[in-house]
Amino acid sequence: MNARAETIETIAATAEAGAAGGPLIRLRGIRKTYGQGQAAFQALKGIDLDIERGDFVAIMGPSGSGKSTAMNTLGCLDVPSAGDYLFRGIAVQKLSRDQRARLRRKSLGFVFQGFNLLARTSAQENVELPLLYRGESAAARHEQARAALAAVGLAGWESHTPAELSGGQQQRVAIARAIVTRPEVLLADEPTGNLDSQRSREIMQLLWQLNDVHGITVLMVTHEPDMAAWARRVVRFVDGRIASDRRNPRPAGLDAQTAPAAPEFDDTPALEASAAGAA
Ligand code: ADP
Repeated sequence: MNARAETIETIAATAEAGAAGGPLIRLRGIRKTYGQGQAAFQALKGIDLDIERGDFVAIMGPSGSGKSTAMNTLGCLDVPSAGDYLFRGIAVQKLSRDQRARLRRKSLGFVFQGFNLLARTSAQENVELPLLYRGESAAARHEQARAALAAVGLAGWESHTPAELSGGQQQRVAIARAIVTRPEVLLADEPTGNLDSQRSREIMQLLWQLNDVHGITVLMVTHEPDMAAWARRVVRFVDGRIASDRRNPRPAGLDAQTAPAAPEFDDTPALEASAAGAA
């Protein structure tokens, strides 16, 4: 299909989804096969999943069940072998590599277990990086990164390098880097996997606030039931299929909110102010 036909099809799909009030994310019959012939392995065997705006979904399941493959698909990092992925009604599998990259930069933020920060680079510069890729001015980068760091409770820590920060603080920098572009969806792959229980709880509280206060849709892979307890919905993968999909009647964040807010969250409105200014 040529680029023009592709664009028209994309717009048509968007309009259709808008008119139908479709979900933010829709997977239909998603399959992923690695390798070929005798060595072929089906990591996803037909996934159907709808995710509404503002949801907080924990993806669980044993090792090898297809969680990472599903996250890579959802994050537009990899294309499925078959099936449809609609993001806001846009057929992701019909986008070119460049269009997918643009969708990723504009709408998705990523947080990983290992933080993935640049060493010997300040927190501020780490958070500015996605804005640099977007071609934002130095002044805009500076202001938005400061606001994002403040939103994750790291005002005053801008000049520190990862080595000068605790694991929990490093993950906060990574989250600031993920939200500085104001994504619609935050994809987190075992975000607390390298943290002790207290730091894990703080990170979950932060993710909960980003979801509950800022309305960011959160998709999180976790092995730990304690972390999944923060999600509004738990989807369990087994052997490349969805084995269960349940709403959590009482996400842990609802109870955490009744506790006094940590002082670092007082800075949260700074992100909104800067976001409004940048819009
Ligand atoms: P999980 O995240 O639940 O541990 P994955 O999605 O990483 O599961 O993997 C699902 C299955 O697909 C596993 O059996 C894994 O070995 C296989 N797999 C994942 N990536 C590749 C790859 N690049 N090539 C071949 N097999 C892969």
